Amino acid sequence: MKQTHLKPSFVEFIPDSLEDGVLYISERFRTCSHNCCCGCGEEVVLPLSSAEWQLSRDGDAVSIWPSVGNWNYACQSHYVIRWNRVLWAGSMTAHQIKRVKQRDEAALRAQVRSDNAARNREKLGDANAVAQASQAGKAGGDARPGAPRRQTLWARILSLLGFGSNE
Ligand SMILES: [Zn+2]
Repeated sequence: MKQTHLKPSFVEFIPDSLEDGVLYISERFRTCSHNCCCGCGEEVVLPLSSAEWQLSRDGDAVSIWPSVGNWNYACQSHYVIRWNRVLWAGSMTAHQIKRVKQRDEAALRAQVRSDNAARNREKLGDANAVAQASQAGKAGGDARPGAPRRQTLWARILSLLGFGSNE
């Protein structure tokens, strides 16, 4: 049976067996899966990245762009998932597609921006953690009121003794 709606389900791991009409989304693993909306039972996996599929989320409503074209399956179905609705590509007019694109592209631009920011945070995460840890180690109690000079002195002593050079 052709689906007209997909219900998003935010999960950590995509389950082994998928329920028809549910779009499983793992933000952690940046992927989503669903049973093909035509009802053929094939599992459709959509990796989420700026180069593949992009997910826009507005509360519990999700859109995925670009369209899902199941060219590798016998059904050859083609649809767009827009705010939880399944828009069958064949049933859309050119005007509808244009409007969907415009709205989704605007949403996706915002999404890609925040994705990139998140990715940079992830990338910098380790380096920052190391830098912060080493700063915290070096600065020690510098932020503690009343003892900045003492801490600085301690840091210098430790450094003279050879501690801290590899911290
Ligand atoms: Zn299908």
